[in-house]
Amino acid sequence: MNCRKVQPLLSLFLDNEIDECTRERILRHVKRCLSCKQELVTLAKVVRIVQKSTVEPQRDYCDLFKPAAMRRKALRDKSAESSGM
Ligand SMILES: [Zn+2]
Repeated sequence: MNCRKVQPLLSLFLDNEIDECTRERILRHVKRCLSCKQELVTLAKVVRIVQKSTVEPQRDYCDLFKPAAMRRKALRDKSAESSGM
């Protein structure tokens, strides 16, 4: 296997969506090819980030926006009051 064949398969490799034989060949190639190894490491990091964000719902993201949403609601209540509703 050469780099051109290995690199498109790396993401499949990480997803385990690849047959055992191809997997072996990719591993063998990556062990002696630095550029494919780095590609695999980079992809592995991305996959880990993606998996992490799907496992943990964006709690921080919600907390970040809650105060603003509450402020908006308070503002709306206030303006509703002043308009006599
Ligand atoms: Zn390579």
